[in-house]
Amino acid sequence: MRTTTGYDPGQHAAGHKDVLPAAVQGSDEGFAVPGFDAVVRLVSRSLGVPWVSLVLHGGSAYSYADGNELPPHDPGTLHPLYLEAARNVSAHVVLDTQLDERFRDAALNLAATPGPIRFFASEPVFTLTGQQIGALCVMDRAPRAALSESERTCLRDAASLVGAGVVLRSYLGRTDPTTQLPHRYAFFDDLRAHLREDAPHAWVIAVDVAPVHRFNAFIRAMGHAYADELMRAVANRTQAWLPPHTRLYQVGATRFAAVLPNRHVLSDVTRMDALVEQLRRPFDCLGIPLTIQPGVGLLQINESELRGGDPLRLVMNASHAAQQHVRGWALYDRAQDEHHRQEFFLVTELAAALTDRTELDLHYQPRVDLDSGRCVGVEALARWHHPTLGLISPNRFIGLAERAGLMRSLTQWVLEHGMAQLAAWRRDGHDIKLSLNVSSTDLDANLVGRLRQVAEQHKVSLDALELEFTESTLMEHTATTRRHLTAIRQLGTGIAIDDFGTGYSNLAALRQMPATSLKIDQSFVRDMGTNRYDEAIVRSVAELARNLGYRVVVEGVETDRLYESVLGMACDEAQGFHISRPLPSAKVPAWLAAHHDLPTRQAV
Ligand code: C2E
Ligand code: MG
Ligand code: MG
Repeated sequence: MRTTTGYDPGQHAAGHKDVLPAAVQGSDEGFAVPGFDAVVRLVSRSLGVPWVSLVLHGGSAYSYADGNELPPHDPGTLHPLYLEAARNVSAHVVLDTQLDERFRDAALNLAATPGPIRFFASEPVFTLTGQQIGALCVMDRAPRAALSESERTCLRDAASLVGAGVVLRSYLGRTDPTTQLPHRYAFFDDLRAHLREDAPHAWVIAVDVAPVHRFNAFIRAMGHAYADELMRAVANRTQAWLPPHTRLYQVGATRFAAVLPNRHVLSDVTRMDALVEQLRRPFDCLGIPLTIQPGVGLLQINESELRGGDPLRLVMNASHAAQQHVRGWALYDRAQDEHHRQEFFLVTELAAALTDRTELDLHYQPRVDLDSGRCVGVEALARWHHPTLGLISPNRFIGLAERAGLMRSLTQWVLEHGMAQLAAWRRDGHDIKLSLNVSSTDLDANLVGRLRQVAEQHKVSLDALELEFTESTLMEHTATTRRHLTAIRQLGTGIAIDDFGTGYSNLAALRQMPATSLKIDQSFVRDMGTNRYDEAIVRSVAELARNLGYRVVVEGVETDRLYESVLGMACDEAQGFHISRPLPSAKVPAWLAAHHDLPTRQAV
């Protein structure tokens, strides 16, 4: 039998009461670190010490004397030095305890050791991912004059081996090395057993405490030890909320789950509110307070749904969604899940389309100068023809590309494809410009280089190009944005403020950006005929924008009446279905040749 010393965390380590879940205390039954006996023998021989102990963060101690396991000793008799060592991230050596006043009142002792221990050294034990889980301690009856470098190295190596063993044991024993809670596989086993034995269906609850990307940033700032304490504290509060004898499982770095007894569930929604409220209360870890954003998900599942299904994925879906809710908890929603799956499917398809490039295409919508009636440019608009889903609107896939980090490669493709096309048209004698839509992700110090390189490759002058940025993009990080835009302007490339009127900025703020034209959003233009306020908005914005020195472009000109109206305003260019819908590249030359019958301002 292994020697396990239980202890009351409050007794020795004030402030840690909250961080040791009740479940952790009793979960060390049957503890066995693979290879620990061999490590003990090795370290005993190399350092010439009779006693070796592994003391875990949670207070459990596994002790050996002369290579043999020690019998259990009374709970609570573990000297505070062991507990301190278990929580210390660096090595600690006491050459002679009799010369150290910490041992004046309480001699350093282990059960079954005749007389006090004089020499003590400890080395922290880490998991392979860097979490500190305890310390390997060596003790001797006689004091020492020094610990040699090779002895220190040996102790360090032994502690590494123990760390690897604890992790291995976690996999074998299905417990999380930090919280000592049973983990994912145990959860599945128990859920399956519950459905087989107890009930036609089960309620699964999941607690998600941090969006992972923020959690990683948090670990970078505070360290693993702090994160581990926090997870123990979260587990503790959740466990306290659960009905008695309900096991809590650690199913991810920041995620917990449990199978609830059926009668417990939703009989009272205030119980759920209470859990959220508990988890929203600030945590005090290692003296530093922190508030988290918990999400609690609930899922009802039966045995047939379990077969081939992934209940954790489903319930995590709910807990993840709940993190954004004011209420903080949510039931699993199949429709929302479907939507997320579709999105995920589309992201992978879009990534493939960006590599393969046969499904993507650019259409070009003409822009007409209102003074001459001439087509002065075209706006490139991305099109995605999916083999099974058909045509997918850019309104859908642009946002997706942004969220999935695919925007830069999409813009690169648009840039190369669009510039190659522009070069071909200009070689054929079409004196037109090209407008490209660019997202905020693209607006960095590399954009100038990317533009130069593509322009050089296709031998097109960069002043034949205009980049369209939405109003909100321009208002993000204004100082750096202005710097990048100025660099783009120095290439001769135009800058348009797209969809003006949909953001919350004002022209005075925007004017500080070196933009050359302003596109009034189609939502105002469309209803101009029926809504006199919209007409007034377009008229005054156009007037103001022109006075501020912008070239004014009106989007969404769908009818001849709208076209006539904008002719009477301070607008320079129009774009819209009345002039032309976006066209595939092959149709543009024919359209340019046929286009001559629009009225111009002079003619009105
Ligand atoms: P946008 O840049 O404002 O482009 C104009 C959108 O309005 C286009 O929609 C165009 O087809 C549509 N449109 C043009 N004239 C009319 C009209 O008279 N009536 C109506 N109802 N609609 C008109 P599309 O092609 O669906 O593109 C939607 C948006 O997606 C674009 O709005 C742009 O913000 C974005 N987008 C499209 N291609 C790209 C791209 O290559 N890169 C980036 N970053 N965004 C793109
Ligand atoms: Mg645009
Ligand atoms: Mg627009």
